[in-house]
Amino acid sequence: MKQRILNHVSFLVILSVLLTFVAASTVMYSKFSTYMKEGVRDEAQYIRVGMEEVGEEFLSDKVGRLTGSRVTLTDRDGNVLYDSEADPKELSNHSDRPEFIQAMEEGEGEKVRFSETLSEQTFYYAVRLENGEILRVARTTESVFLTLMSSFTLLGVLMVAILLLEFFLVQKQTRDLIAPINELDLEHPLKNVCYEELRPLLVRVDQQNQQIAAQVEELKSAETMRREFSANVSHELKTPLMSISGYAELMMNGMVRPENVPDFSGRIYHEASRLSSLVADIIQLSRLDEKSSDMPFEAVDLFELAEDITGHLSQAAEKKGISLKLEGNSVSVRGVRQVLYEMFYNVADNAVKYTQEDGSVKIFVGKSEGHAVYCVEDNGIGIPKEEQGRIFERFYRVDKSHSRQTGGTGLGLSIVKHGAALHHAQISLNSEPGKGTRIELKF
Ligand code: ADP
Repeated sequence: MKQRILNHVSFLVILSVLLTFVAASTVMYSKFSTYMKEGVRDEAQYIRVGMEEVGEEFLSDKVGRLTGSRVTLTDRDGNVLYDSEADPKELSNHSDRPEFIQAMEEGEGEKVRFSETLSEQTFYYAVRLENGEILRVARTTESVFLTLMSSFTLLGVLMVAILLLEFFLVQKQTRDLIAPINELDLEHPLKNVCYEELRPLLVRVDQQNQQIAAQVEELKSAETMRREFSANVSHELKTPLMSISGYAELMMNGMVRPENVPDFSGRIYHEASRLSSLVADIIQLSRLDEKSSDMPFEAVDLFELAEDITGHLSQAAEKKGISLKLEGNSVSVRGVRQVLYEMFYNVADNAVKYTQEDGSVKIFVGKSEGHAVYCVEDNGIGIPKEEQGRIFERFYRVDKSHSRQTGGTGLGLSIVKHGAALHHAQISLNSEPGKGTRIELKF
C-alpha cells in the first residue's frame, strides 16, 4: 500500500512541478519579451526623433554604442549606410528583409528571427524616417527554449528535494494510517471503529465471528447429544439383552419347569422383538440424521398410508376395546414414503398405546388452509404441560415403566420430529392429562 501511495503521490508531484514550471516560465518569458520589444520600439523612436530634429549627425557611434541594441540605417533601397556593430560596406542589401519591406509600406515593421541553434532570438524593429531612409534597431536575447533549458538544473534539484520530502511524509502518513488498523481487536471489531470507511468490513467480521461462535456452539451441543445418545443406546440395548440371556440361562440350566417353558420363551421372544424394533428405530434415526440420498422423494397419498396404518393397528386397538377411526380424504404430498409411513405409524401407535381401554382414537387426513394435514386425536392419558417440550427428545418417556411395558423405544416421536424436518412439516401438540392428546402434522 505504501508503495502505491508513494507512486501516486510521486507522479502527482512530478506532474504538478513540471506543469507549474512550464506555465510560470512561459508567462514570465512572454512578459519579459513584451517589455523588451517595447524598449526596442521606444529606442528606435527616440533615435528617429533625434535624427529628424537634429539631423543625420545625431546617429553617431556614440549613440550607436550607448544602447545595448544594434542600430542600422539604410537608404530607401536597402543599402546599409550605418551599422553600430559592423562595417556598412561588408553588409548586404536589406531590401528583402520583412521588417524593411513592412516599414517601407506602413512606416514601421518588426520581426523576430531565431538563430540556427534556436538558442537565441533577435527582435528587429524598423521605422521609416521623413527622408525615406529606414532606421532599424535590433536586440538579441536568449530564446524561450534556452531559458527553459537553463532552469532545468534548478528544477531537478527542486524536484529531488520535494520527492525526498514526500517520501518521508508518505512513510509517516501511512504508518500513522495503518497503526490503528493493526491495533484492531478482531474479536470485538465494532468496539473501536477507527475509520468509518472500515465499518462495513468490520460489520462483516463481526457477523462472521457470531456465525463461527454459533457453529461452535452447535457442534458442541451436537457432540454432547451424540455422546448422550450412544450412552443411552448402550443402556437401552443392554436391558433386553440381559433379560434374554437371563431367561435363556435359566432354561439352559434346567431351572425352568417344562410347563413354564412357553412362558419363558415368550418373554425371550418379547425382549428380542423389543430389541429388534429398537435397532430398527436407531437405524432409521441415523439415516434421517445423515439425510442420506437413498431416500427418494415421490408423490405419496397420505390417506392411503393412514389406511394401511389403521389396518396394522386395528388388532392392538381391538384388544384394548379402543375405537379406531379414520376420516378425511385423499391428499398427496412429495415425500419419502417409508419415512412418512413411520412418522404416521408412530403417532397413531402412541395414541393407541397411551389410551386406556374403551377409549377412542381418531385419525384425520385431508386439507386444511391449503395444506395437507395428518392428525391423530385420542382421549387417553394425556401429557403433562411440563413434559410436552421434551417428548420429542431421544429416549425421553413420560412414564418409563409404562412405555417399556407397551414396547415403546422412546425414539418414536424423535423420528417424527426428524421426519417432519425432512418434509418441512410443522408439528403441533395439544394435550391435557386425563383428557387426551392431539398431534397434527401440517405439510
Ligand atoms: P415411546 O416409544 O416411549 O412411545 P415416543 O418417542 O413415541 O416413545 O414418545 C415419547 C413419550 O411421549 C412417550 O413415552 C409417552 O410418555 C409420551 N406420549 C407420546 N404420545 C402420547 C400420547 N398420544 N398420549 C400420551 N402420551 C404420549
